[in-house]
Amino acid sequence: MLSLRGVRKSYGGTPALRPVDLDLVAGELVVLTGPSGSGKSTLLMIAGGWETPDGGEIVPRPPLPEVPVDRMSWRDLGFVPQSISLFEELTLADNLALARGGPGGAELLEALELGHLAARRPGEVSRGEQQRAAVARALVAAPSLVIADEPTSHQDHRRARLVLDLLRAAAVRGAAVLIASHDAAVVSRADREIRLDAPAVAPG
Ligand code: ADP
Ligand code: ADP
Repeated sequence: MLSLRGVRKSYGGTPALRPVDLDLVAGELVVLTGPSGSGKSTLLMIAGGWETPDGGEIVPRPPLPEVPVDRMSWRDLGFVPQSISLFEELTLADNLALARGGPGGAELLEALELGHLAARRPGEVSRGEQQRAAVARALVAAPSLVIADEPTSHQDHRRARLVLDLLRAAAVRGAAVLIASHDAAVVSRADREIRLDAPAVAPG
């Protein structure tokens, strides 16, 4: 579904992501862990095509030039960015409709306890609700690849479980799911954990 070989990235000579190998398989839920600054977000942005790696190989290759970051999907990918990045001028329902290419997603909003907020804009709901809407947007087109950056970071235990249940359901229907998370509840429910080490800092 997605294969990374020796993918690495530096910013201004400072390593952000050490060379990493990663294979995602359909039906599998993989959690990406590692200390803050180890490159989890960088890896997800590279996998989604919003950052260009300095080296290594990605199959399938994300479209180049880079996809506009606000589109948050390409081909068959649902992406939950750390920044959440909903369209502020659209209602939650219309954010989903845009991602799906038509109306739908009411059940997803209900499942995430957002049904009563479907007609609100992101600025009219809490951060936690925005984050769940971003999860719904990533899943609404039933993509074969789902990538989510800390998708439970603004959720309480109960809502985190709702999010996880839906990400698991995506894997059960055959998607490959990659989640960066510190959340023990996410790690414990993953099929596999990939741990990034913090980049070595130059001596001195
Ligand atoms: P994590 O998600 O594991 O916390 P990140 O991928 O966010 O790690 O960051 C890895 C390292 O790369 C950090 O040191 C971070 O400061 C740096 N970094 C990330 N994005 C940028 C950027 N756009 N410009 C410069 N440095 C960056
Ligand atoms: P959460 O537990 O998701 O973080 P909050 O405690 O922040 O929720 O918010 C409680 C309620 O207040 C939510 O149902 C949300 O819809 C509403 N709310 C929060 N922030 C805003 C806002 N900026 N504008 C309108 N309603 C808001």
